[in-house]
Amino acid sequence: MATIFTKIMNGEIPCHKVAEDDHYFAFLDINPLKKGHTLVVPRQETDYLFDIDDEYLAGMMVFAKKIAVAIKEACPCNRVGVAVIGLEVPHAHIHLVPMDSMNDLNFGNPKLKLTPEELAETAGNIGKRVRL
Ligand code: AMP
Repeated sequence: MATIFTKIMNGEIPCHKVAEDDHYFAFLDINPLKKGHTLVVPRQETDYLFDIDDEYLAGMMVFAKKIAVAIKEACPCNRVGVAVIGLEVPHAHIHLVPMDSMNDLNFGNPKLKLTPEELAETAGNIGKRVRL
């Protein structure tokens, strides 16, 4: 059965898309730690990130870098933090989170409650800055 992220990439479940190419997809996390919290997902369904083959994983990191550059431009922050958790959704993904302090990357923090309008605006602001 397709994962929830595959359904998102296929357009069966809505998302706030940031960018996509033939191999990878980026969209906003629905429960963000910070405004601009984005997930980078490979189209290939693999549960654990480090089970992805070398070349495809390297390409995913390069794609994530381009998304992180755009996040930093759109959502002013000290750095864009990178995290891999993967305990909830069995489809590998990288979290990119704008951060100003170490605590901003604490997944135990309460999640932000952003409106659909705020999420759409944020996705648009990041997406228009992505240079693939
Ligand atoms: P984890 O697998 O532990 O890295 O957590 C999965 C992440 O995916 C969580 O941060 C969720 O908020 C996020 N997530 C789950 N479903 C959706 C969805 N439909 N759209 C956007 N983000 C989602």
